[in-house]
Amino acid sequence: MRKVRSQTKIIATIGPACSSREVLFQMIEEGVDVFRLNFSHSNQAEHQIIINTINELNKELNLNIAILADLQGPKLRIGEVENNAIELTDGEFINFVTTKCVGNKEQLYMSYAEFPMDVKIGDKVLIDDGKIQLEVIDTNRKDTVKARIIYGGPLSSRKGVNLPNTRISLPSMTDEDVANAEFAIENKVDWIALSFVRSAFDVKILKDLIQRKKGTASVIAKIEKPDALDDLENIIEIADAIMVARGDLGVEVPFDRVPLIQKKIVNACISKAKPVIIATQMMESMITNFRPTRAEANDVANAVLDGADALMLSAETSVGKFPAITIRSMQKIIDWTENNGFPYNKKHAPQVMTERFLANSICYQACKIAHQTTAKAIITFTHSGYTAYKISSHRPEADIFAFTNNKILLRKMALVWGVRAFYCEDFEGMDEAITYSQHLLKEKHLISNGNIVVNIGSTPLSEKGVTNMLKLGVVQ
Ligand code: PEP
Repeated sequence: MRKVRSQTKIIATIGPACSSREVLFQMIEEGVDVFRLNFSHSNQAEHQIIINTINELNKELNLNIAILADLQGPKLRIGEVENNAIELTDGEFINFVTTKCVGNKEQLYMSYAEFPMDVKIGDKVLIDDGKIQLEVIDTNRKDTVKARIIYGGPLSSRKGVNLPNTRISLPSMTDEDVANAEFAIENKVDWIALSFVRSAFDVKILKDLIQRKKGTASVIAKIEKPDALDDLENIIEIADAIMVARGDLGVEVPFDRVPLIQKKIVNACISKAKPVIIATQMMESMITNFRPTRAEANDVANAVLDGADALMLSAETSVGKFPAITIRSMQKIIDWTENNGFPYNKKHAPQVMTERFLANSICYQACKIAHQTTAKAIITFTHSGYTAYKISSHRPEADIFAFTNNKILLRKMALVWGVRAFYCEDFEGMDEAITYSQHLLKEKHLISNGNIVVNIGSTPLSEKGVTNMLKLGVVQ
């Protein structure tokens, strides 16, 4: 039986290595909280089968595992190349053309029609996660860009391209992204991530689409472009959560800057109570090995210590040899780190007389009181989820239990640090709600007699207003 897990959550990307019901089940047992569908791969019919299986598993096991649909965004790619393998040689020249062709040592198709107009002489072109590097030496500003190969190497078809110095004029969502977002909305996935976000406006476009379609999904902005770092504050403000997408980020900005960028983004998100995910290459060697490297164990532990809400696995689970063992290993590192030196109790006091100041103060004080009294749990009654996010952002030692009559929140909360969500019907009064919550948590062995608990909520309950009540008690 799946136990209450760590506070830091785990996201696993689904792919051929783990799409069977058996492996998905094993991964849930080992600690997965959120499954990620990567729309850069697989078609809607394949994703539909996975969504159905996760929904069934949630129902059968009475769990709230969330689903995250990750849209590809304006990802640039080269086209097919001869025999799916060519060699680019250092010092030689090659043309990028915007009319479709099979690539060879003279020319490569580039899936970005405005490339010759947007690029400048001297701009870097990086292919295949930065393994190949070129420099632009000429453009006819119509359909051809000439580049010198700085670091060559083997190249296969459809590899990704990064242009770290070029302001890309493509829209934030391609037609394919819109179709996939609509599919995700119809399937009521919990979170939709948008890749290559450049500004808060990009996030707004997806949020507007979800609103137009009367969807319920929340939006994750993937930070992987230098432009996004320039608009970080506004992006954090508008997005529902942030992903530090270190794969493309580490190619788009100098890799030596990524560790401090990660810390900066995590801190900024915690101070705004926005969930933050650390993604990519966390357990990379486990694609082929059954144990992680020391450096990977360090990376996972450091992301936990930074205070990330969730850690994400990509190829390790989607195409790796050991998807369930990878989850088990990540969970072990998280557990040990949280239990032996996690910096709980972040102290970011709310500012007086700002928006939601009263609710923010109650959440802040609830965490302080919980710490002072060594409370076992903070129990919040929430309709919008706001207080659960807010309590979580203080990273308390006490468990966070969120009771809600809003079914949409139950799975969404799976991504949020420390929060475990439970469904409850509407109650007449707060006393009744507290009695119910304690009864249920005792039944699930999550609290026991004699434990101190902090309850917060809004009275009168029926008005579903802002949080205005804090009650400290001992479980009887
Ligand atoms: C990344 O670049 O780190 C990332 C998570 O995005 P993707 O896996 O879509 O490349």
